[in-house]
Amino acid sequence: MSSAAKPQIVILLGAPGTGKGTQSAWLSKELGVPSLSTGEMLRAEAAHNPELKRLLAAGSLVSDGLVCQAVAAKLRRELSSTGVILDGFPRTVAQAEFLDALLDELGLPRPLVVHLLVKEDALLTRLTSRRQCPACSALYNLETRPSRAGAFCELDGERLVQREDDTEQVIRRRYEDYRQVVNPLVDFYHRGDYYVINGDRDPGLVSSELLEIIAGPSALAA
Ligand SMILES: [Zn+2]
Repeated sequence: MSSAAKPQIVILLGAPGTGKGTQSAWLSKELGVPSLSTGEMLRAEAAHNPELKRLLAAGSLVSDGLVCQAVAAKLRRELSSTGVILDGFPRTVAQAEFLDALLDELGLPRPLVVHLLVKEDALLTRLTSRRQCPACSALYNLETRPSRAGAFCELDGERLVQREDDTEQVIRRRYEDYRQVVNPLVDFYHRGDYYVINGDRDPGLVSSELLEIIAGPSALAA
């Protein structure tokens, strides 16, 4: 983004548990680029759109069209000069096509897409090793970040538990759902500005590789 004169749209793809959220937050801070989730854009747009406001209040599913409308309104109104990291959008090829058309209309470059890839078995090991404190929600990991208090929370001494959605069956199903969503997007984007990063490594290494792809090699020296 440093070298590009125009705002750059960055899309991070990655299964739940790959560390996408953490990386996206880190990158946003490091580059001074806002990270926008679909939920945030929908809530912002609801202030101008009574129908959307009603749907969100009722917890109803929001259609593709309304999601696209919210993203377009947000990008038209207040796209920062540095660009934006999109979190959770696009989710479908129709949304990806919509985004391309919108960027063309705004005279912006096509998105830069980075896919944070972690193999299913590695993800399974990582997620089934997670432990959480039921009192303060602190997260630990038996493999990568064990509690210094053993089976108890370092902060308040509560016995740590495994979250219900961190079981093998749930993780495998979530991964399959993710593949169904991401494969068409990979087909759509792989001929463009598309990069794959091995996410099954130290988070710091993943961060610097992400930064190098997005901001160029000079960002690391700076
Ligand atoms: Zn705790």
